[in-house]
Amino acid sequence: VTEPVAGLDVGGTTTRGVLSDRDGTTRATIRTPTPIGDRTTVVGTIVEAVRRLAQRAAIAPDALGAIGIGVPGIVDPATGEVRHAVNLAVGREPLAVGAAVGRAFGVPVIVDNDANAAALGAAELLGTRDDLAYLSVGTGVAVGLVLDGTLRRGWRGAAGEIGHIAVDPLGPPCPCGQRGCLEAVASGAALARRWPVDDGESPAAAMFTAARGGDERAIRERDRLASHLARAVGIICLTVDPAVVVLGGGIADAGPPLLDAVRRALHAPARRSPLLADLALADRLVLLPAGADPGVVGAVAMARNHEPASLRTA
Ligand SMILES: [Zn+2]
Repeated sequence: VTEPVAGLDVGGTTTRGVLSDRDGTTRATIRTPTPIGDRTTVVGTIVEAVRRLAQRAAIAPDALGAIGIGVPGIVDPATGEVRHAVNLAVGREPLAVGAAVGRAFGVPVIVDNDANAAALGAAELLGTRDDLAYLSVGTGVAVGLVLDGTLRRGWRGAAGEIGHIAVDPLGPPCPCGQRGCLEAVASGAALARRWPVDDGESPAAAMFTAARGGDERAIRERDRLASHLARAVGIICLTVDPAVVVLGGGIADAGPPLLDAVRRALHAPARRSPLLADLALADRLVLLPAGADPGVVGAVAMARNHEPASLRTA
């Protein structure tokens, strides 16, 4: 199959996409806000993004070989249904994202959780076949796991939904119905509430800049965030022991100062615990190069690796 493919990463805040040839040549890109609306708004956002990508690449959307989509929430890749994408107003009732987008264009659509897509993309960008965890800290917090070369989705598609581990019983309420979820205290959205910035500015980058300048409140917020993220890294490593943990999502905009802060927060308990010291958690933590977009790279890979149904059933 030699048709071009499209890959989209639908975030709680921004939707990004690429249309590329099968050989990987990028023909068009898009970056557009993910509007907040009712539960079906996200389908309209995706359809419009694919239309605009096709227009920019000067092809008809139905000429695409496949469309890969990463979305937050619990995703069944077999049906393309999404549930519990709390940042997209999708709750218990499944939203048939794959079927709706497929109907719009008449091409195969592969849907997976956004952190899963980003984990695939990160493994491709790093060129690693080792076990890898992609810790996505954006509007929400979740982990994508590539173990033994394949995605680990879990029984209910909830593997890696660590953002809803309740870490602070007195913390703020989370849209999932619990209180003090990791996501409610340490996501990009939580940081944006604690460190408000102007439109278009990254709260994490702004806070780290202020902390470097000696702002005491910024230093406290930085250390608080770093300790929550260090806890997340500990949970991941003590559960599945991956060789690489990629710190990603919108928060990665803060770059090396963020990596340094989380590494410092991992070193502190390792000084008291020979067990943690030997596990070398800080050494496994990496950032992707600035500007890398693993969610989109992974979504394109999902579309590229898609086998037409006729081949799959043959
Ligand atoms: Zn929650």
